Amino acid sequence: MALGENPLVTGQRPRYECLLLDLDDTLYPLSSGLAAACTNNIEDYVNQKLGVKKSRVPGLCRELYKTYGTTMAGLKAVGYVFDFDDYHRFVHGRLPYENLKPDPVLKNLLLSMPQRKIIFTNGDKVHASKVLNRLGLQDCFEGIICFETLNTLSQITENNNDWDMPIVNSTIPETPITCKPSKESIEQALHLANADPQRTIFFDDSTRNIAAGKRAGLHTVLVGTSVRTEGADFALESIHNIREALPEIWEEENTERSKNVVRSRGAVATIETVITA
Ligand SMILES: [Mg+2]
Repeated sequence: MALGENPLVTGQRPRYECLLLDLDDTLYPLSSGLAAACTNNIEDYVNQKLGVKKSRVPGLCRELYKTYGTTMAGLKAVGYVFDFDDYHRFVHGRLPYENLKPDPVLKNLLLSMPQRKIIFTNGDKVHASKVLNRLGLQDCFEGIICFETLNTLSQITENNNDWDMPIVNSTIPETPITCKPSKESIEQALHLANADPQRTIFFDDSTRNIAAGKRAGLHTVLVGTSVRTEGADFALESIHNIREALPEIWEEENTERSKNVVRSRGAVATIETVITA
């Protein structure tokens, strides 16, 4: 730090005030098998519940996921009619949650970070709650921004587009769903969290979410690989490596300045509160 930049002397605000953390494959490793099981369940849903021919399902799901951020957002965009809760129950209900074990190391890391910590996931709140409880991290976050937070029923209007693969021109139907990596989802999350992007670190295992986060002005940490991609300020094989990669998260902890930060905790009351059930 250059002379004159000592925050104790200048009274500057801390560099980081808020941590926005993705849930799946960010707070636990991809090797847990939940992501693979989730993909299978989504494909089963599209086949069994929406009646798409089995041979066509994987390609359709891939294309929709690529275009819309989540397969669900894509299915809605192209006109499939289904109930969100039914979809989430089917897709997440049979996940091997038993593969997730309590992670006291991560818990201690999170609890020792002085910044506000908020989950930002495309998943639904029941899933987020189950995952956090399994990992023993249910008390580590100020709130959860999830599917229900980003998508209130009043905001969603059904789409009846007639759309089929492949996308051959720019007439891609819009999805009524707000989810990462859309600009709107990140802006909404920042608004709900009452967070300044320039003082917020965003953790995610998705390279496109990270790229979108960077475009929104966030500091970014790609998790699950040590190779930095577009928009990633840092890349960590595991979230457990955070202290080595970003010691500055803790460096501000003991300064008088950080104790004096005005934190608008009341503003996150609209976020789904951490679920402990
Ligand atoms: Mg993820």
